Amino acid sequence: MQNDPHTTLITADAPVAAETHGGRTKCLQRLVRLELPVPRTVGLSFVAVHKIARGEMPDMAFLLSPFEAGELLCVRPSSEDPDWGGPSAILNIGMNDARFVDLAERLGKEAAASLYARFVHSYAVLVARLDPDVFDVIGMEGQASLSEALRAYEEETDEPFPQDPAVQLAEVLRSMARAWEGTSARLLRQAKGAPADAGLGLVVQSMALGFGAGECGSGVIQLVDGQTGLEQLTGRYLSQSQGRDALDGGSEALFLERDPRGPSLEDLAPQAFEDLIAYATLMRTKLREEMQVEFVIEDGRVHLLDGVRVARNSRAAVRIAVRLAEDGIITRQEALMRIPPSALNELLHKQVDRTRARDVAGRGVAASPGAATGRIVFSAAEAQACAARDEACILVRRETSPEDIRGMHAAKAVLTERGGMTSHAAVIGRGIGLPCVVGASEMRFQIRKKLLTGRDGRVFKEGDVITLDGTHGEILVGEVSLLEATLDDAFKTLLSWADLERDIGIRANADTPADARTAKNFLAQGIGLCRTEHMFFEDDRLTVMREMIFAENSEDRRAALERLLPVQRADFTELFMTMAGLPVCIRLLDPPLHEFLPSDHAGHRGLAEALDLPLSEVTRRVEAMGEYNPMLGMRGVRLGIAVPEIYDMQVRAIFEASINAAKSGAPIVPEIMIPLVSAKREVELVKMRIDVVAAAVRAETGADFDYKLGVMVETPRAALRAQDIAETAVFLSFGTNDLTQMTYGLSRDDAGRFMSEYVKQGVFAEDPFHTLDVDGVGELLILGARRGRAARPDLVLSMCGEHGGNPESIAFCRAAGFDYVSCSPFRVPVARLAAAQLAIFDKLG
Ligand code: PEP
Ligand code: MG
Repeated sequence: MQNDPHTTLITADAPVAAETHGGRTKCLQRLVRLELPVPRTVGLSFVAVHKIARGEMPDMAFLLSPFEAGELLCVRPSSEDPDWGGPSAILNIGMNDARFVDLAERLGKEAAASLYARFVHSYAVLVARLDPDVFDVIGMEGQASLSEALRAYEEETDEPFPQDPAVQLAEVLRSMARAWEGTSARLLRQAKGAPADAGLGLVVQSMALGFGAGECGSGVIQLVDGQTGLEQLTGRYLSQSQGRDALDGGSEALFLERDPRGPSLEDLAPQAFEDLIAYATLMRTKLREEMQVEFVIEDGRVHLLDGVRVARNSRAAVRIAVRLAEDGIITRQEALMRIPPSALNELLHKQVDRTRARDVAGRGVAASPGAATGRIVFSAAEAQACAARDEACILVRRETSPEDIRGMHAAKAVLTERGGMTSHAAVIGRGIGLPCVVGASEMRFQIRKKLLTGRDGRVFKEGDVITLDGTHGEILVGEVSLLEATLDDAFKTLLSWADLERDIGIRANADTPADARTAKNFLAQGIGLCRTEHMFFEDDRLTVMREMIFAENSEDRRAALERLLPVQRADFTELFMTMAGLPVCIRLLDPPLHEFLPSDHAGHRGLAEALDLPLSEVTRRVEAMGEYNPMLGMRGVRLGIAVPEIYDMQVRAIFEASINAAKSGAPIVPEIMIPLVSAKREVELVKMRIDVVAAAVRAETGADFDYKLGVMVETPRAALRAQDIAETAVFLSFGTNDLTQMTYGLSRDDAGRFMSEYVKQGVFAEDPFHTLDVDGVGELLILGARRGRAARPDLVLSMCGEHGGNPESIAFCRAAGFDYVSCSPFRVPVARLAAAQLAIFDKLG
């Protein structure tokens, strides 16, 4: 028998670690160190399990040597992070005909037969991979079930049920090791943040059976509620002594909270109950975590089988981390490090306003909380195409599989016909904070025909708008009123701690006062990008805007712009007032003008009426304004130079609004940003005109004010020439959406069509519009930052593309010495936490 370093008996000083043997193995060792009553356990390392998957078995005699002959064993998974899951535990290994005879004498035939039947069932389904339906109908109770299960096993495999405990154990180990290496298991854990090569350890443990003369039974107990994170003793205990099957997890459970139908554990075994609470409290303090304790009671004495982190949703995770820190068990920094930033998404979701009338088309299982409205799509590819067009969509599938993951990321919510709380869609949905309703079987799903039929027969087709309420499991017709996320005290406390740690600013991209309110609510430190074009799309303004675009000469243009000035000024005033003195960075008009014009015949006719022009004239002028490649055409600063009156009006509105807002609130220094710059001269020309407007406003109002002028770096040339540009601009904000488009020469509006193919074939590791391309675009950022700061050492640097809220981009910007990132308001809390974690990581070395 050889001594195998990857097969280790868990003692107080055995050489095991979470990184090599998994979290469960390490946890059991900690319980042993606390001198808690843990059955004998052997840990198999990641290396051992990986070898087993390849067919190289460990020395079974050595593995079994710590256990007594005839002892029943169980095997449980031990992944590095318990959240990454693992194959199901298998119990009662070692049950065979001989053992049945022994146990029947001690426990009675029925109880021994149940143990055996259960083992045959899990072995057949999980190890021999036989059809679960065959065994599900057999049942697992008593001698009749046992005979039937053994017969079914033999029929299905043409072999008798294996009797040698070493063979049984070897097969169990092999099946668990292989299950971990399978594709779906890998994709599922990767979706929860596990690396592709995450290892699995296994623990082989002696079974405490929970049979004997005094009080016997088994259960679980924890000190907090996993849904709310609040202090609350919860658990379940099944008493064998009370004549109930100790292994039955069904309705006869005796709850620890007093069950009106029967005595509680406290009544049945007061000492054991007291011990359990003491053990759980000790584990909370010493393991520095809320633990669920799995236990067996034999003759009134407690055995602890396992301790696992209490399963929790994100809200509970935040509250638990904050309470542990407030109780002095962990530090605030540790509390911050314990919450994955993306988990906050779940707390930030909007909810359906249930006080308003709702039109319910169907119901299913409320599998992942939050609500979203969008157009129906029936495939992951369509979802990605929608996302590329910036359109909200709801992915509707019969059920989802790993191939749908990209589509799920692209969708705002997911609806499936099949599945329950643990189906793929549900697990992934909760993992990525995506509202999800599963098992909506009362609706009819015709995926190929692209039709969804409500329970009352109403038919919805691709493109129709629905709202999905993942919190209540409802599918609602059309767009419904949604409530903003409510943030509890623990969430706010955690983020206030994050703000004390982080060393990079977080602003929000906010175009409207409503966005600004959300940003303020989430404690953004200002607005990093206000895209002003959105202000012109409202109906009353659009006509005036079109009049301005159609103006024959500068005078007519000015007249139209004069009508736009008060609305623009009112928008900015509200924005400044909402942000109450925090910096607000306003980008001057960016899109090509023809985006404001109608594109179809009816629209042209409407415009002809509104402007009192012949239809032919309108059509001709609209056509004349068309461009072959508008994203590279007359837009951004080019517009500002060719049609300077627009920027004149906008900066006047900004200055007048800042004077207005400062009268009743904090002083404001507006930041004005010029889009799509590629040459220093562009900035100089715009600055000259802004200064003229500023002087005029100062003279007219008698107010003194200042402003900051910055440039949006969206073209590779702007990054390359950042040194020149920074002579005139006091800040540079990298617009990584356009910069990615122009660096790759890849249309951001069309890339969705082939992006999945590109990622699948490994051309791109990830979609560069979602994940910053640090190699190419990143190099331009570093170069631009360095060159800009060479001209102006106090140059303020930021990123405001969609990448700004991703933890990886924040890490990049921090390392490159940026002052802040700006992201969508809902990403602000995620960004605050991610930034704090980066700073803590550095501080801890
Ligand atoms: C960008 O290009 O990165 C950007 C933020 O601007 P927009 O998305 O409006 O083009
Ligand atoms: Mg842009």
